[in-house]
Amino acid sequence: MSKISSSKWSNLNKLKPQEYVCGFCGHQVASDSGYFHSEFAWIYICPNCGKPTYLRGSEVIPGPLLGKEIEGLDEDLETVYKELRSTLKNGDYTATQLLGRKLIMHLAVNVAGSKEKKKFIEYVVELKKSGYIPPNANKWVEKLKDLGNQKNHELKLGDKITAEEIIKFVEILLTFMYEYKDEEENRS
Ligand SMILES: [Zn+2]
Repeated sequence: MSKISSSKWSNLNKLKPQEYVCGFCGHQVASDSGYFHSEFAWIYICPNCGKPTYLRGSEVIPGPLLGKEIEGLDEDLETVYKELRSTLKNGDYTATQLLGRKLIMHLAVNVAGSKEKKKFIEYVVELKKSGYIPPNANKWVEKLKDLGNQKNHELKLGDKITAEEIIKFVEILLTFMYEYKDEEENRS
């Protein structure tokens, strides 16, 4: 991850110290330098990586990068997973929802052996049957089923909570499908 010097921004101001998770370097930081807008908006400069974060009310942009790094993904999958994580970080929740559904369907067909051209909801059920979803993740399965009830021609905006749940669910799937598989292979 590239860093720039946090002190080299021009005309930096001293601000009320603020703690947040930097969406660029992922560190929990406390910053006291940046810029102030008279309508109660701030730009804080990360003391670790020197990059700016915009804060206003509950808005933090970029938000923290959620979803952990997963070992053993092939290049395409890694790219899509990364894109999925950045939609959430940027607050593009409708995109998270669409990309998340796409990724879940891809995993059902390519890893869990589901047939193509099924309904989203059927893929979720098959993923569960195939043992890739841990028993304590049932609440996500139920949520995803609700999501699956949306018709394709409907345009429903995504929300933050659902977007976070999708990322967590994809993270679980990828962990079980790729990381654990690698560990098994290394052992044998
Ligand atoms: Zn940072």
